[in-house]
Amino acid sequence: MDINSTTGAVYIVASLLFVLSLAGLSKHESAKNGLTYGIAGMAMALVATVALVVDVATDLDGGMISVLLTLAAITVGAVIGLWRARIVEMTGMPELIALLHSFVGLAAVAIGWNGHIEGSHHALGSLDNIHEAEVAIGIFIGAVTFTGSIVANLKLSAKMKSAPLMLPGKNVVNVGSLVLFAILTIVYAAIDAGSTGQDVVLVVLTVLALALGWHLVASIGGGDMPVVVSMLNSYSGWAAAASGFLLSNDLLIVTGALVGSSGAYLSYIMCKAMNRSFISVIAGGFGIEAGPGGEKDYGEHREIHADAVAELLAGASSVVITPGYGMAVAQAQYPVADLTAKLRAKGVNVRFGIHPVAGRLPGHMNVLLAEAKVPYDIVLEMDEINDDFDSTDVVLVIGANDTVNPAASEDPSSPIAGMPVLKVWNAHDVIVFKRSMATGYAGVQNPLFFRDNSQMLFGDAKERVEDIVRALDRVPEVSGAAIHRPALV
Ligand code: NDP
Repeated sequence: MDINSTTGAVYIVASLLFVLSLAGLSKHESAKNGLTYGIAGMAMALVATVALVVDVATDLDGGMISVLLTLAAITVGAVIGLWRARIVEMTGMPELIALLHSFVGLAAVAIGWNGHIEGSHHALGSLDNIHEAEVAIGIFIGAVTFTGSIVANLKLSAKMKSAPLMLPGKNVVNVGSLVLFAILTIVYAAIDAGSTGQDVVLVVLTVLALALGWHLVASIGGGDMPVVVSMLNSYSGWAAAASGFLLSNDLLIVTGALVGSSGAYLSYIMCKAMNRSFISVIAGGFGIEAGPGGEKDYGEHREIHADAVAELLAGASSVVITPGYGMAVAQAQYPVADLTAKLRAKGVNVRFGIHPVAGRLPGHMNVLLAEAKVPYDIVLEMDEINDDFDSTDVVLVIGANDTVNPAASEDPSSPIAGMPVLKVWNAHDVIVFKRSMATGYAGVQNPLFFRDNSQMLFGDAKERVEDIVRALDRVPEVSGAAIHRPALV
């Protein structure tokens, strides 16, 4: 068997492993196996590709230099990747992922330009126009992904304001850019291959795509960032697939299509979770300026201390915990898991309610809770638990804010109006863990904090949960499920 057939066979196995990986990642129970399949597929793909490079290079003058350069690039990339993965905090994941998407975009631009230079030297006869369309499309998707991901990285790491850029006629700018791209692609394919005119058209197309990517993400408001993250994930897949066509690499086409389509589906889920259409996200403006509605006076909030919360919990029969980004910041998942175990041992029915956009990554809360070994079967999605709050004694809102904001469902003038949220306010008692009265990611005030059945437990979520765990040991056993109403502070 020659090296090409061997590599082809390995690529097919790797593609299947990637499909299995995606299937595994769709459920908590199988996620670890999914990751293993993905790692195995990628390792096989790398080895097969390097073997192919070595085989081709041995027949070329100076080929071994190419091999050494390839190996050096892989080593440097692997070392940086391992180092970043080891030091990254869970809260820094979203911006790291955005940065990684930008690399895929940049690579697609580089491969596209390489295809342009190569293509102009080697006429491809009747396939010329197809090749040129691949070059133009690959560079366009890659460049949009590159700058869009950089803006997403800057916004997620708070190095750039999350408020949207509001250029006049921004929709005209977006649609006009797409039309211009189509025209430039046709002109690029029509002009003589290798001519200066063709170079100029491709430079203009590249700059246009870079500017569009920047504008698209810069003009999206804070509340829509979950969709942006999954959208860029999808773009990076299509960019890789476009590169696969240019390099005639089947594995890259398959992998890119898998990432592109699963990212597109994730964007759909995110849009549904936020009650938004994809087009309205691109048109922008969700969860931006609070406007007059943001200045409403909701009255006074009330505070509670950890000891009193422990008493309340000990007397409860059902407790729901709704974690949010603050749990990730505080790394409170371990004491939360301890608290859950303690309450369950006392016979309290403890469950978790997870909003689809809680935290800063799809599945962020599920990952943290799984890390702390919270049993999967008590971790429920928003739709599974939203009708149960009426019959819940106590809800612990641990570092969540936008995802439990009643204004989203009750105040049509709210910037987040229409976004489905966890209806925690229907419970008997709501305890909100946060450090201050500051707003959440969307910058919108939360009337939940001022409701009669809500009390604020201020401080770092991890420390406060640890206080409650300690205080629980001091609370005498309560028979039955009588709810104590501790004195307010
Ligand atoms: P929010 O970002 O709305 O609020 C988090 C709250 O946690 C803040 O109000 C903050 O209040 C509190 N907090 C921060 N640090 C701590 C700490 N150490 N201890 C205790 N509390 C803390 O969180 P949600 O999860 O409810 O909502 C997610 C938001 O992020 C949504 O707007 C969503 O659209 C957006 N988003 C989601 C993405 C995703 O894919 N999931 C991606 C990008 C954005 P304080 O400062 O007072 O402590």
